[in-house]
This record gives sequence, C-alpha cells and structure tokens, in this order.
Amino acid sequence: MTMTLQDWARQASTCTRCRLAQGRTQVVWGVGNPNADMMFIGEGPGYHEDKQGEPFVGAAGQLLTTMLGEIGLRREDVYIANVVLCRPPGNRDPLPDEIEACRPYLEAKLDLIRPRVIMTLGNFATRFVLDRPVGISRVRGQRFEIDGRTVVPTFHPAAILRGGGQASPQMQALRQDFRTVRAILDEPVPVPALVEEQLGLF
Ligand code: URA
Repeated sequence: MTMTLQDWARQASTCTRCRLAQGRTQVVWGVGNPNADMMFIGEGPGYHEDKQGEPFVGAAGQLLTTMLGEIGLRREDVYIANVVLCRPPGNRDPLPDEIEACRPYLEAKLDLIRPRVIMTLGNFATRFVLDRPVGISRVRGQRFEIDGRTVVPTFHPAAILRGGGQASPQMQALRQDFRTVRAILDEPVPVPALVEEQLGLF
C-alpha cells in the first residue's frame, strides 16, 4: 500500500537513520498545504525549529514569511520543508551521509505533494534538487525544468540576515527571485501537465 504524507511523517518522527537523532528535541517534518503548487526547501532545523517542531519559525523564517507576503502568499498556501529533518548540533552544516539518510523523506514529499514550482533556499537544497554541485551565487534566480517541475534557487534567508540585511544586494536578489516565482505561478498551467495532475500520473 502506498504511504501517505502522514504515514511518512509518523515514520520519520522516530527516525534513527543518522547521528542527528541523538541531539534533536524532535523531528521537524514540514508544514503547509499538502496540495501546494509551491514548495520551499531549506537546509535543516535551527534552534527554534527544533524546539517548536516547525520549519522556518526563527528569524530566517520571519524573513521567509515576509517575502511570501510580498508575493501574495501565506505559509498555509505553500509547503515548507528542509533537506534534513533534525537540527545539526550548533547549527553546523548537514554532512553528506546525513543528507543521504534523510533523502527518502524529501523524495516522498516531492512525490506526494507534486509541487509545480520549487524554490530552493541556499546551497544544500539547491544541490539536492538539481543533483549538481552548483554554487548558489551562480544559479540563483535561474529557472530549471526538472521532472516536469520548475525549480528556482535563491539565497538562504539566514545568509541574508548574516550578510547585509535589508539594504544588501543579496536582499534585492531575493526579492527579485520571489517575483520570478510569482510570475511562474501566474503562468497558465500547460494542458498535458494539468491532465497528468488530475489523473494523478505525475
Ligand atoms: N534554516 C533552514 O534551513 N531551515 C529552517 O527550518 C530554519 C532555518
């Protein structure tokens, strides 16, 4: 029997596939509309996400929520996920084997939610989705067509906060990339994609 998103979340809640299980308060599965057209993928939970069990609720999350608002979306309209489900100690980068251990969970989300548009936030999510060792500064704002979905990489909001903040060129780039996503969402859905979606073939 095929597993639902809830089945996956339940299974993940007791996951011990990698060392991150030892230091977490809880698994941070993901949040939002399970039928969303639009999915955001970040890196991994930080301090606040680990405590609250929801992705992007700290300072970077507030910036993400603000950017969503600027293009007329609410958190509940989209789906928000991370490459790894558990907080890396001291907010270090997730290690390659941790990302691999978590791969089935993100792949299950992509398969079951079937978003039309994905925005990857930062290097880790971008490399995961594009399956290439790219650098975010080089690829941000571009459109990639992958498995029938449009992927737009952009800077991680936390990197903007650590960098120049509101006035920085990176912030302007982030704004521009969100406008790109809005424009893609506003494009008419190609008919074959629509039919596939309705038939659940995608
Ligand atoms: N940074 C991320 O990549 N994900 C979160 O959920 C929070 C901060």
